[in-house]
Amino acid sequence: MKHCQWCDAQFTTKISYQIYCSSECREAATREKIAERYAIARRNRRHGKVRKCKGCGAGLSVYNDEQLCMKCTVNPNEVTKALKDIKGFMNGKSITD
Ligand SMILES: [Zn+2]
Ligand SMILES: [Zn+2]
Repeated sequence: MKHCQWCDAQFTTKISYQIYCSSECREAATREKIAERYAIARRNRRHGKVRKCKGCGAGLSVYNDEQLCMKCTVNPNEVTKALKDIKGFMNGKSITD
């Protein structure tokens, strides 16, 4: 006994790789896959503009709405270092003034 990957109905088959109970279900599933691929292509086009991480300058994923890449979000050493440099620069300036 197998479960149809589309409508979840139980069915029996002699073909081991058959995952849909009927050709209707197979066609519906194929249509869904094509629509999904089309949606992804459309999303990629919308996010065609390349965005860079504010921390390390690496290209950001279209799925990442943050201004930092995953690496910098998890371990923002570069950002911390940059902030320290600015602080040190300002301290040095105040001493010489
Ligand atoms: Zn089915
Ligand atoms: Zn980064």
